[in-house]
Amino acid sequence: MLEKNQHILTVTNKKEETFLRKRPADFDFSKYTAKELRELIANMRSIMRSANGVGLSANQVGLDMQLFVAELPQHNRAPKVYAIFNPKIISTSKEMQTMEEGCLSVPKTYGIVTRPQEVTLTGFDKHQKPLKVKAIGLLARIFQHEVDHLNGVVFIDKAKNLHQSEPEETNNDQI
Ligand SMILES: [Zn+2]
Repeated sequence: MLEKNQHILTVTNKKEETFLRKRPADFDFSKYTAKELRELIANMRSIMRSANGVGLSANQVGLDMQLFVAELPQHNRAPKVYAIFNPKIISTSKEMQTMEEGCLSVPKTYGIVTRPQEVTLTGFDKHQKPLKVKAIGLLARIFQHEVDHLNGVVFIDKAKNLHQSEPEETNNDQI
């Protein structure tokens, strides 16, 4: 279903952009075995890490399904990892936060995006168990960026001050 060396779709390719701008289908658990789901998540994480990303949605690797993976770096601890199927943001804080963002599907481009500082996200884990996560700061930003992808929205639609930069010239994570 997904190769480890799958290329990440970008908006610089017209055909890929069309796919990225379409809302992927709801995830149907009945179509996959537990082993297939484990492999799918492992491969998405591996693609995300190879690209130095902290989040990756399934449509960024050409899959028509509502799923994203994310990895939140922690100080002196193993990163927190997430794989969330059929995610939905059910509430957002009034407090907003403005940060520079980048995206694996928009190479070498960064911009300022204002988003709610806290969100509550619901969805399902790989065992189809419902989950609810309250996220603050960077994790809240990653969740919102990925849920945007899964609605066919790319961060450049919301960003201000878009500019070109090499990833190594910035400390910003790409999602
Ligand atoms: Zn992105």
